[in-house]
Amino acid sequence: MHTAHDKINDGQIALNAIQRRHTKVSAGDQISVSRFVLPDNFNLALLTLELDFVKRSNRSEQLDAVVLAQQLRKKFTDQVMTVGQRVSFEFCGTNYLFTVNQAMVEGEENSKGLERGIITKDTYIVFEATPNSGIKIINQREATSSNIFRQKEFNLQKLGIGGLGEEFTDIFRRAFASRVFPPHVTNKLGIKHVKGMLLYGPPGTGKTLMARQIGKLLNGREPKIVNGPEVLSKFVGETEKNVRDLFADAENDQRARGDESDLHVIIFDEIDAICKSRGSTRDGTGVHDSIVNQLLTKIDGVESLNNVLLIGMTNRKDLLDEALLRPGRLEVHVEINLPDEHGRLQILQIHTNKMKENSFLAADVNLQELAARTKNYSGAELEGVVKSAVSYALNRQISMDDLTKPLDEESIKVTMDDFLNALQE
Ligand code: ADP
Repeated sequence: MHTAHDKINDGQIALNAIQRRHTKVSAGDQISVSRFVLPDNFNLALLTLELDFVKRSNRSEQLDAVVLAQQLRKKFTDQVMTVGQRVSFEFCGTNYLFTVNQAMVEGEENSKGLERGIITKDTYIVFEATPNSGIKIINQREATSSNIFRQKEFNLQKLGIGGLGEEFTDIFRRAFASRVFPPHVTNKLGIKHVKGMLLYGPPGTGKTLMARQIGKLLNGREPKIVNGPEVLSKFVGETEKNVRDLFADAENDQRARGDESDLHVIIFDEIDAICKSRGSTRDGTGVHDSIVNQLLTKIDGVESLNNVLLIGMTNRKDLLDEALLRPGRLEVHVEINLPDEHGRLQILQIHTNKMKENSFLAADVNLQELAARTKNYSGAELEGVVKSAVSYALNRQISMDDLTKPLDEESIKVTMDDFLNALQE
């Protein structure tokens, strides 16, 4: 090893001071070098940088994490970062020195992380300040959630959800962002996990569809779905027990594995069936009130768990007990409305996609026009229109004179007329 100033001969390599510290070699050391092959999923999703030192030229005590993250990404795009590595960075006349604390790849944000990764334009960067750096990091939360969102631009149509892009973004920003980061990062940022959210709006608009996809995105498997009326039992005390049981898996998991516990997403459809405002039912027995209390107790009890996300759904938000909607309970409320024309077009595309791929959709079918003619249709109703159009098309294929005649699969075509007939129903 020689210092970087010397002429570099064959068999020698030159490293600057930071590189030497990082690779733990000194000038003059003998080293061996081998080629590093990039794994496929090497694009960093998260990089945590600890601020060690700031040499300030101005007296600003605050560090805008959003701006700094942008600059860092710009400057270090395509550079490999190794955990433990020092990164020095000059911005607006100020020198920053960071240590790389943590690196994670997309989709594995809950894992322990990697030894190294590559900074891309989508890498989100979390800053951590040491107590003695004497600087306050501001806007961290914005920096992280907005960047994650850019990183994770979900293709809703691919997930079978039409329209609802804004609602999904809202849910993501308010409820998920805190779930994507490992607990030790969220603890340091002082973000509290959202424990519950409420999706409300007219029936058939995709609330269940969306809740299910959220559940899958968060923990990679089908979430638990329960239905309000199913939880209700006519036997005394049985409903309360059913409510308690909903949380049993999450509680057992937490007991067994502590911080390592999986996230348990519980989807509660028609939650108004068991959570009408207390005192509103006039059976005089107070049985209903005790069910509401049981649910509230359970939700409050998951305080320490952090491994539960309860998604409640209702067409009648006005019926719900106020107490259920307070902070710490179902605190994020997102209204899911009937789709607009663009949303309706997307929904029609989703539900005709298969027949289009298989050439069953006639060329004259104009989905744009159908979207324009279906004002006030819900997603479920649009799906109904598609199904009905298909049944018209199939009907034409069946010869009433001879039901045994083989079906000519090739000639099945769903036409615009079939859709228009379906709309008349
Ligand atoms: P909700 O829970 O709001 O009552 P669902 O999610 O159960 O409605 O919707 C019922 C069905 O209607 C879904 O399974 C889906 O096939 C269709 N649907 C409803 N909304 C949408 C949408 N936004 N995009 C695509 N399909 C939809």
